[in-house]
Amino acid sequence: MGKPRFDDIFMELAVNLAKRSHCIKAQVGAVLTKDTRIISIGYNGPPAGTHNCDEEFPGVGCPRDSKGSCSLALHAEQNAILYAAKNGSSVEGATLYVTLSPCIACARIIFSMKIDRVIYYHSYAEYKGIPVDEGVEFLRRFGVTVDRYEPSELLSIPSEPSLLPVS
Ligand SMILES: [Zn+2]
Ligand SMILES: [Zn+2]
Repeated sequence: MGKPRFDDIFMELAVNLAKRSHCIKAQVGAVLTKDTRIISIGYNGPPAGTHNCDEEFPGVGCPRDSKGSCSLALHAEQNAILYAAKNGSSVEGATLYVTLSPCIACARIIFSMKIDRVIYYHSYAEYKGIPVDEGVEFLRRFGVTVDRYEPSELLSIPSEPSLLPVS
């Protein structure tokens, strides 16, 4: 057996982190790395100490925003970047692993924080049947490398995104 690639290790961690999300509409995980070391992690959810969507809105689910996502949550990418910033780690030049292609709001933050590369697993646009991932398009247009993760045979991580927003 070959050794797992760092891409596999970090994406598997992101997939597992997504399962920690309390949101009912979508579960997304993110891992922020630099020089193959982890500098931060995150998953989507309201700011710590505010809401736990699954406990507060059982059954009905989180209040939705205009796109059908949880309106209270910070996105996984935002949580990962905020944690690094709060703790004084520079994210400039970092690589971000995320289980779902970034939305346009996250893309603006990723670009502004000078993150070099984004590797995503599932495509939000593909899932929703819309023509383009606008976050991915934005990042590429302004020079951030964006690649779609190709799962290796060594891993058995789910090929379906967990609990994506239903329209
Ligand atoms: Zn929620
Ligand atoms: Zn986002």
